[in-house]
Amino acid sequence: MGLIEQLPPHIVNKIAAGEVIERPASVVKELMENSVDAGSTRIDVTVEQGGSQLIRVVDTGRGITPEDFALAVTSHATSKIRSDDDLFSVGTLGFRGEALASIASVSRMRLKSRTPDSELGHELEVTGGQSGDLTPCGCPLGTIIEVHDLLYNTPVRRKFLRTTQTEMGHITEAFTRIALAYPKIHFTLTHNTRSVADYPPVESWRERIAAIIDPAIADSLIDVESVEDDIRLFGYVAHPSHSRGNNRLQYLLLNGRFIRDRSLQHALSEAYRGLLLTGRFPISFLQLEMPPSLVDVNVHPTKMEVRFREAGQIYRQLLGTLRTRFLTTDLTARMQPVDEKSPESAHDADRTAALRQEVVNWATAELATQTEGRPAPSSGEGGGFAGTPASGYATGPHEPLRLNRLDPSWTSAATMSPPHATAEVTDPTVAGEHAASNPSVETAGTRLIGMQVLDRYLISETEDGLVVIDQHALHERVLYEQIREKVLAGTMETQSLLVPEPVDLSAAETAAVLDAKELLSKLAIEVDSFGGNTILVSSYPAMLSNWSPAELLRNLADQLLSGGKAPDARDLLDELLHMFSCKAAIKAGDRLTHDEITALLEQREYVQDSHHCPHGRPTSLVFSRDDLDKQFKRT
Ligand code: ADP
Ligand code: MG
Repeated sequence: MGLIEQLPPHIVNKIAAGEVIERPASVVKELMENSVDAGSTRIDVTVEQGGSQLIRVVDTGRGITPEDFALAVTSHATSKIRSDDDLFSVGTLGFRGEALASIASVSRMRLKSRTPDSELGHELEVTGGQSGDLTPCGCPLGTIIEVHDLLYNTPVRRKFLRTTQTEMGHITEAFTRIALAYPKIHFTLTHNTRSVADYPPVESWRERIAAIIDPAIADSLIDVESVEDDIRLFGYVAHPSHSRGNNRLQYLLLNGRFIRDRSLQHALSEAYRGLLLTGRFPISFLQLEMPPSLVDVNVHPTKMEVRFREAGQIYRQLLGTLRTRFLTTDLTARMQPVDEKSPESAHDADRTAALRQEVVNWATAELATQTEGRPAPSSGEGGGFAGTPASGYATGPHEPLRLNRLDPSWTSAATMSPPHATAEVTDPTVAGEHAASNPSVETAGTRLIGMQVLDRYLISETEDGLVVIDQHALHERVLYEQIREKVLAGTMETQSLLVPEPVDLSAAETAAVLDAKELLSKLAIEVDSFGGNTILVSSYPAMLSNWSPAELLRNLADQLLSGGKAPDARDLLDELLHMFSCKAAIKAGDRLTHDEITALLEQREYVQDSHHCPHGRPTSLVFSRDDLDKQFKRT
C-alpha cells in the first residue's frame, strides 16, 4: 500500500499562509491590493494592537456577489485570470487566488460585501478556515474584510510577532507603498483609534509624494522619462542635496506594484556616483511600465521580486536616462551653502563654488569616458609618514569643551584658555580674527605650536615631532567623548522649545522615532506623537541647535531605520552619538581663529583616543624627527 496521501485543503492553506502571511503587514498588503483591484476610490485601513488583534479594510470597490463569497475564501480561486496564458499578462495586483484563503485559515475572518446591482449585502464568517453560513445584511457598496486574532491557531508563529510598534512600522510601510502607487485613491490608516495617515485623492504623483514623504523632497524632485521599445520609465529622482542614510526612500513600481530589484538599485546608485558621499543613498520614485509579457511576477509568493526578460536593457535604460537627465540639469543651482546663518557666509559661497565645479568636472568626466572606476583618491600616506604612536596620553579630568561654533562663548578666550596658557604669537601682517594664526601654548609640559593650513589641518609640534591634525576628525572625537560622558551621567544640556514644534515624517519614520522615544530622551530629545505622522519635538540637545527639529528628526529616523532588524539599544546610542558629534564638529574648510586652534589642541590632551575620530580614521599624522631628517637626507 502506498504511503503518499493528498493533504486536506485546510492544511494546504495553512502551509500557503506560512509563505504569504509573514506578519500582520502581509495581510494589510493583500487586502489593500484586492481593494485596488476591485476599482475602489477609497480604502480605509484600521488596525488594533499592531494588527494582531484586528485588521479591517473597508473599500468602495465593485464588491463580491453572494455566489462568489465561498470561492473568494477558497484557495486557487480567483476572478483575475482564467487561463495559463493570462498568467503571463497579469494586469492586476493579485492573481494567485490564495491570499484570502490563506488569511482565513489562520484567523477569524469576517467578510461583508455588496455589489452595485443588489440592495442587500451579504456576510460570511470563516474561523480557522471553516466557513459559517452566508447571511444577508445591510452593507454599504463595496467590501469590508475584518481579520481578527491573526495566527491564533498557529501559536508558535504568533509568538514570533514583534512589538506593536515594530509590527505597526511594517504595516505603515506596506500601506505607504500602495498609497504611493495610487494617488487617485483616498487612503486612510488608523491604529487603535489614532489616525496615522489620511491621503485624500490628488491629481499628480508629486502631490502624493509630498503628502506621504516630505513636501521639501517633493519640491526638489527632478522628473525623468524615457521610452525604449515597449518599456516606459518615468517618475522622479531627488536632487543630490537630498539623500538618505539607507535605501528605504527608493521606490520602484512595476506596472503599479512595488518591487525591490537589486540590479536596478545598483543602476540608481551608479547614476549618482560622484554626486553623493559614500554611505548616502539616492531618493527615487520611479515607475516602469511594460507589457506584462516582458516580466514574470510569479517568482515570489509576495510578488516583491520579479524577473525581467530584458534585465540588461532595463538596467541600461535606467542608468542612461538618469545620467542624461543630470547632465542637462543645473544640479548646482540648488546647492545651498552648508550653513547660511554662519558668519562665514562668504567662505560658504566659496565652498558652494567649489562644489559646483566638482559636479561639473564629474559630469564632464562621466560623459567623456562612461568608464567604470574613478581614480582612487590618494591615501595621504606619503613616504616618510610614521604611523601614529599608540596613545600615551593619560585620561585627565575632562574640561568642558567649548569648541562648538554655536556656543556664544566660543570666541571668548576667558572661558576657553586654561589658566596656564601663555603668550600667543599672531601674525602681525594679517589683521582680522580669521587670519592664519600661530598661537603657541605650553600645555602639560609639551610645547604646542598651533597653525591652521588649508583651512582643514592643524600643525603642531610635540615631543614626538611634527604633528598634522585633521581638525574635523579631532573635534568630532573630542565632542564624541564629551557627549558620551554627559549622556552616561545624564547631564546633556537640553534646549527646551517654548512652543513644541510639530514635524511631519513618513509613516515608517514616525513609528521608528516613537519606538526609540526612551532612548532619545537620554539624548535630551523629547518627542511625542501628535497624531498621524506628526511628531512633536519639545526639546533637543543644545549642541545641535544649528539643526532644525525637522532636520534632526529626519536624520534620526534615517539612523534608526538603517539600524537593522534588532538594533541593540547600546549600538544605536553609539551611532547617534557619532552622528551628533560629526554634525556639531567644525568642518574641513572652517577657518579657525587662534583661540579656537588653541582650545582644540588643548582638548587633544584630554580625550581617550585622540588619534582616531569616531569613524576610525586617523585624526593626526606624526612626522618624527628621524623621518624629517631622512627626507632631508640628513642621515
Ligand atoms: P487574488 O487577489 O489573487 O485573486 P485573493 O485570495 O486575494 O486572490 O482574492 C480572491 C478573490 O476574491 C479575488 O479574485 C476577487 O474576485 C475576490 N475579492 C477579494 N477581495 C475583494 C474585494 N475587496 N473586492 C472585490 N472582490 C474581492
Ligand atoms: Mg489578492
